[in-house]
Amino acid sequence: MSASAIFECHGHIIADGIDYRAAQALHKRGASETAVRAALARNRDCGVVYYRDGGDRLGASLLAKSVAPEYGIEYRTPSAILHRRGHYGELYGIAYRDLTEYRALVARVRAQGADFIKIAATGMLDFAGDGRVLGEALPFSELSELVRAAHGEGFAVMAHCNGADNIIAAAEAGVDSVEHGFHADARAVDCMVDCGVIWCPTCVTAVNNAAGGRFPRETMAKIVAAHADALRYAASRGAFIACGSDAGAFNVLQGRGAAEEAAYLSGLGIDTAPGNAKLREVFRAG
Ligand SMILES: [Zn+2]
Repeated sequence: MSASAIFECHGHIIADGIDYRAAQALHKRGASETAVRAALARNRDCGVVYYRDGGDRLGASLLAKSVAPEYGIEYRTPSAILHRRGHYGELYGIAYRDLTEYRALVARVRAQGADFIKIAATGMLDFAGDGRVLGEALPFSELSELVRAAHGEGFAVMAHCNGADNIIAAAEAGVDSVEHGFHADARAVDCMVDCGVIWCPTCVTAVNNAAGGRFPRETMAKIVAAHADALRYAASRGAFIACGSDAGAFNVLQGRGAAEEAAYLSGLGIDTAPGNAKLREVFRAG
C-alpha cells in the first residue's frame, strides 16, 4: 500500500452525506449496484483502500463487499446494525428484544456474509441541541452478553457509543472498537487503552458541521474542542486511534470524508497507522 493509502474505518456506503432518505430510497427494491459502484468509485478516487462499513439494512454494504475488490478496496461489513428494539439504530439496523433474538440475528448476518457484529450501545449526540447523548444506553450486563455471544461465534464487535461512562462500560464489556466516542474524558480514554480497544472517533461528523447551518455553531464548537482534547490525550497514552469518517453522515461525503478525517487527525498530531493496522487485523473477513 502506498503512503497515501487512506483507510475508511467507518462509513455507510448506502448514504451520500447529503440526503439519507433519497440515498436509501435507491435501494428500496434491492441494493442498487449502480449506486454502490458509484460510491465505491468515489472512495477509490480519494485513495481509499480499506472500507469498514457501519451497516445498513437494505443490503448495500453486502453488495459493496462483493464488488469492492474491483476498485482495489478491501471491504468489511456487519450487514446491519443489531440494536435493541426501541433504542437507537433503526435507520441502519434490525432490532432484537432479548438475547435469544440477538443470537438469531447474529446467525442471520453470518449467513448473509457479515464479517463482524455492529451494535449500538448508546444513541447519537444531540447536535441540534446541547450536544448531550440521546436515548438510553445499554447496561453493562447486556453489553457483556452481546459481546460474549458475538465473540463466541468468532466475530469482532464494533460498538456505536458516546458518553464517558458508556465508553467505559463498552470497553469493559469487551467491544473491539468504540465508534464516535464523543464526550470521552481521561477515565474513558484510560479504560480504552487498558482494554486495548480501538477508537474510531469520526471527527468530521462534527468538524464538517462546525461552521453552523443545520446545527448550532456553539454546540458544534464545544463538541469539536472537547473531542480534540480527548484525542490528544489518547494519543499521548498510545491509544489505537483509527481513521473513519462515518461517511454518509450529514456533510460527510463518500471518499472525501475519509480524506478529511485523515487530514484532521494528522493535524492534531495523531498517527492513525497503528490503529488502522490493528483494526484491519481484528476486523478480519468473516
Ligand atoms: Zn455510522
